Amino acid sequence: MRKNLYNVGAIFKGLSITFGFMFRHKPTIEYPSVRKQHAPRFHGLHELRRYADGKERCIGCELCSSACPANAITVIGAENAPGDRRSPGERHAARYEIDELRCIFCGLCEEACPTDAIVLTPHFEMADYRRGAFVYAKDRLLVPPEAGVGVAPDERPGGIPGDLGRVEELKSTMDIERGYAATWRGEALKTNRKGLAG
Ligand code: SF4
Ligand code: SF4
Repeated sequence: MRKNLYNVGAIFKGLSITFGFMFRHKPTIEYPSVRKQHAPRFHGLHELRRYADGKERCIGCELCSSACPANAITVIGAENAPGDRRSPGERHAARYEIDELRCIFCGLCEEACPTDAIVLTPHFEMADYRRGAFVYAKDRLLVPPEAGVGVAPDERPGGIPGDLGRVEELKSTMDIERGYAATWRGEALKTNRKGLAG
């Protein structure tokens, strides 16, 4: 009899823990109807930035490729033609690819870039069924011409400026409204915030 009472007590003790958790804050979210809101400096999918006049910031220097510990970046530079200047420098990236499956999202490419051309964004949804879909070329990395920021240095005496688009400054915050403005993909996430978890 005493043993049976002990077992019933154990059951109620166990259930009290279960019911106790029903009223606590849940760390899990119902993805994808609810999405996680990452910090602005979260290392997600890359983007290649432009200047406000639409020129590409990338000058094809390959520093990001050299700095990448995962050998994920392929850059093939080419000379800018006089009538078809793609970037303010002498060269531009004729081919630029990042294999996001190789990438370890360390951010060293962003650190190495002298023109703030390649940046990591808070965008994290990249799932696909084909390995080839994870090789992002310029057609998917480059932001639209209207999303460029900053005056291109060839129109500004003094060369490459200290202000390269305020990416680092804008990302150094936990304020989503301000920090997501650092990147084009971040801005897109900001306008699609429905269901974001806090
Ligand atoms: S984030 Fe790191 S691993 Fe990924 S492409 Fe940049 S340097 Fe390479
Ligand atoms: S993204 Fe930056 S570091 Fe990489 S090739 Fe272009 S300018 Fe050079």
